[in-house]
Amino acid sequence: MIERLSDVAQESSNAWNNAGTGHAALCELNYTPESPDGSVEIDKAISINEQFQLSRQFWSSLVEKGVINEPDTFINAIPHMTFVRGETNVAYLKKRYEKLVQQVLFADMEYSEDSRVINTWAPLLMQRRLKADEPFAATRVVGGTDVDFGALTRQLFDHLRSEGVQVRTDTEVRNLKRSATGPGRSSTAARSAARPDG
Ligand SMILES: Cc1cc2nc3c(=O)[nH]c(=O)nc-3n(C[C@H](O)[C@H](O)[C@H](O)COP(=O)(O)OP(=O)(O)OC[C@H]3O[C@@H](n4cnc5c(N)ncnc54)[C@H](O)[C@@H]3O)c2cc1C
Repeated sequence: MIERLSDVAQESSNAWNNAGTGHAALCELNYTPESPDGSVEIDKAISINEQFQLSRQFWSSLVEKGVINEPDTFINAIPHMTFVRGETNVAYLKKRYEKLVQQVLFADMEYSEDSRVINTWAPLLMQRRLKADEPFAATRVVGGTDVDFGALTRQLFDHLRSEGVQVRTDTEVRNLKRSATGPGRSSTAARSAARPDG
């Protein structure tokens, strides 16, 4: 394995460099775009959520095999919430909720426009809005997840190293050559093409 930086999981997977939600489309609105006719499309949200369930099954199997540590070292339950302001956004969130909640993967989603309810979900968010005239709404899924992709990556690499995989850090791949002898030789091609950065 070739890594440009001085250690693995320093880039996107580092816990400080991503939001850390298990991307399950519980709170990410980009997976449920609004069509020109005003309806909300949920196909992508369902597909993303299914992929996340597969990831969870995969990680479970790795825990069972002892490849990675107990789940709470990299994945923990945390509510996923979406909060919107203004009439148009509230109407969108309501439509999104009404469609998603009918799906088994989103059946636990809650919706509220009530400041007292949202206050119990996210008190700091509501602190100055309890008396605001502006309409707002939120959804919540209590069973969302917080994933530390950095911890997961480091554990996977610890396992690879224990299996004899050589991890070369501070080394940047600058060129790749396809081996004439087929895929079995391709990693050799990558290694020989890697040059230490310094
Ligand atoms: C701001 C932000 C927020 C995000 N939020 C979420 C979220 O909430 N939930 C979620 O599921 N996902 C989120 N993601 C996405 C998630 O972080 C990434 O999909 C995931 O970390 C990618 O893992 P990776 O191993 O493919 O890439 P990385 O962790 O980036 O690893 C790639 C590695 O390749 C190395 N490298 C690159 N080029 C070379 C080269 N030429 N030679 C040698 N080494 C090289 C890099 O140094 C790096 O270490 C977010 C991403 C960002 C940027």
